[in-house]
Amino acid sequence: MDRESFTTILGRLHIDAVPILNTNYVWIIRHADHEGAYLLDPGDAAPLKRHLTQNNLALKQIIMTHSHWDHINGLDEMLRWKKVDVIGPECSVIPQVTTPVAEGSRFQLWNNVEVQVLHTPGHLPEHLCYYLPNGNQPVVFSGDIIFSAGCGRIFNGTHAELYNSLQRLNALPSHTQVCCSHDYIMDNLEFAKHVEPDNPYYQERIKSVILRKRMGKAAIPTSIQAERLINPFLRCGEKSIQQSVKRFSQESNHPLGIPTNDLEVFTLLRDWKNQF
Ligand SMILES: [Zn+2]
Repeated sequence: MDRESFTTILGRLHIDAVPILNTNYVWIIRHADHEGAYLLDPGDAAPLKRHLTQNNLALKQIIMTHSHWDHINGLDEMLRWKKVDVIGPECSVIPQVTTPVAEGSRFQLWNNVEVQVLHTPGHLPEHLCYYLPNGNQPVVFSGDIIFSAGCGRIFNGTHAELYNSLQRLNALPSHTQVCCSHDYIMDNLEFAKHVEPDNPYYQERIKSVILRKRMGKAAIPTSIQAERLINPFLRCGEKSIQQSVKRFSQESNHPLGIPTNDLEVFTLLRDWKNQF
C-alpha cells in the first residue's frame, strides 16, 4: 500500500509526516495557535511544496539533522521556492545553513516553543537531534540515530559515539515521542526477534504494525518507553541480549571476543545487524 502523510497531535503542536523518496518521512511542525510551519530535512522538494501549498502553510524555517543526500537533496529547490533561514549543524556539505547550532543550543519556534539541540554523532559526525519539551508532551526529532526497534548505521563515526548518542535519547523522559526519519520497523523486528526470541513484546508489536500497515499507516512516531521494550540497541544491559551476542561473537569469530560491557554488546549487535 502507498505510504500516506499523517498527523500526530501533541498538545498545541500538530506534526505532519510526509513520505518522500523510498522510505523517508519529513516532519512538518505546525501549531494550533500560530501561522506557518517548520520542516526538517527536505530530501525531496516536490511532495513538500505540494503538502505546504495544499494545507495553506507558509514555510517559516528549515531544520537539518545531517548531510546525507536523502535529507538535503530538496534543500536548494525549497529555498528557491521560499527563501527562509536554515537551522542546522556547521558542516561543509550543508553550506545552506544560515543559523548554525550545536550541542546545548536552544532556539524557539514561533517565539514560544523551545527546541534544545543534542549533538548525536555516530551515524555522521555532525548529526543533531532536536528535543522539544512541549509542556508535558515532549517530542524529539531524531533523524537517523534511532529507528523503531533499531538504530542508524555507522557511516563516519565510532560504535562508542553511536552508543552514547542512543543513550542520550534513552535518557529523555520515557513518554517522549520519537520522530525518526525512516520506518524500518518490520525488518528491525525480524532481527530483534532473532536476537531475543523470548521477548514477548516483539511478537505483540509485529501484530500491531501489520494492522497499521494494512491501513496505510506508519509505525512512527514511537516513544522512548516503547523502544526500551522493543529496541535491542537500547537493551544491551539485558541478560538475554548479552547471551545471544556472546554466541554471535563466538560463532562469527568476531575480533572483540566475549563482550565485557554494554558498549561491547552494542558493538557486536550493530555488526551482527549489518550481516543479518
Ligand atoms: Zn543518514
